[in-house]
Amino acid sequence: MRITTPRWTQSNGATRAVALEVLIHGPLSRSEVARRLELSPGSLTRLSAPLLDSGLLIEVGEHSDGRVGRPSQLLDVVPASKRFIGMKLMAEEIAGATTDLRGNVLATERRRLQARDPQSVVATIAELATSLRRGSPEITALGIGVGGLVGEHGLVQSAPFLHWNDVPLGSMVEAVSGLPTIVENDLVAFTEYEHWFGAGRGLDRFAVVTLGAGVGYGLVIHDEIVRNDEFGIGLIGHWPLDPFGPVCSEGHRGCAKAILTDTAIAGSVSQALGRTVSYPAALNLAASGEAAARRIVDDAGRGLGRLLAAIANLTMPEAIVLGGEGVRLAEVAGEAMEAGLRADRDPRTKPIPLAIRSGDNIEWCRGAAVVAIQTFVLGHRET
Ligand SMILES: [Zn+2]
Repeated sequence: MRITTPRWTQSNGATRAVALEVLIHGPLSRSEVARRLELSPGSLTRLSAPLLDSGLLIEVGEHSDGRVGRPSQLLDVVPASKRFIGMKLMAEEIAGATTDLRGNVLATERRRLQARDPQSVVATIAELATSLRRGSPEITALGIGVGGLVGEHGLVQSAPFLHWNDVPLGSMVEAVSGLPTIVENDLVAFTEYEHWFGAGRGLDRFAVVTLGAGVGYGLVIHDEIVRNDEFGIGLIGHWPLDPFGPVCSEGHRGCAKAILTDTAIAGSVSQALGRTVSYPAALNLAASGEAAARRIVDDAGRGLGRLLAAIANLTMPEAIVLGGEGVRLAEVAGEAMEAGLRADRDPRTKPIPLAIRSGDNIEWCRGAAVVAIQTFVLGHRET
């Protein structure tokens, strides 16, 4: 994939570090940036010069830290100076959002998928991008989040929900839309938003758990997302949670997929009541005190709590973000979740801060946009 990048994105890592520090934590005084990055004032002046020239960074007044000496200039970005589009690919539709340089959502739209073959999906992506560009013509890059295994150069190696194998989605979309395009696993994208601009900002370690059609898990340690070639498989899906739970397609009794997914919960409630019940309806029934739904949803909530405890015990995050379209489970079964979490934690441990997201698909789109920001603005990854 050949991408034309602005001059400063090809600059060295130290310049990128300055840009990143100000993008994520700005406005910051020059002295604070120098302190955080362990740079001399002279080095910072040299490194920030191309960023100021290009317009990515601006000077926004002065800050006095109360010590003797001249006040230090404040550096910031102009979030509105660049626009990005982030999209989330789903089995039935595509959701899209336009964001600024800090991942703030400016506009949203969605399109139904007419068919799931790559050409049709790419045509729908291009249509959605064209429509979003009517409001923001100058788009720097497009990010697309896909639930599945995503390889180098925008290759979707496998996406079971679309029955795709080895689809060069990135180059297909670039050819049709003309936009520099980055394709990433959707959970990586979701986690990167939280990492840079969300609940994980400034934390050394945090985890993300998403609920919905699957169960997702993302972990950031020392400012880097932990991943390997198997990340997109959804490795936490078969984590054992309930020795008496239902059986998943792989034969595990009570694994995360068998008790926490929306289909698992809707299926169990439907079976208990002898009629088909959707996931939102199953949660509504539980909330209203219907006995069978209450029991099934509480069992799921307890399982979710045990999963959070396992994550807390094994990876020691400073916070856990809960998201995904099925996240309302954490609210409806909040007490059971807390009980499950406490049961598997040492009594001397402190409560782990939980950030519970709304579950709106726009949160996935925002993540996909952040991946585009990382790749195309800051040269965070080779393209
Ligand atoms: Zn399983």
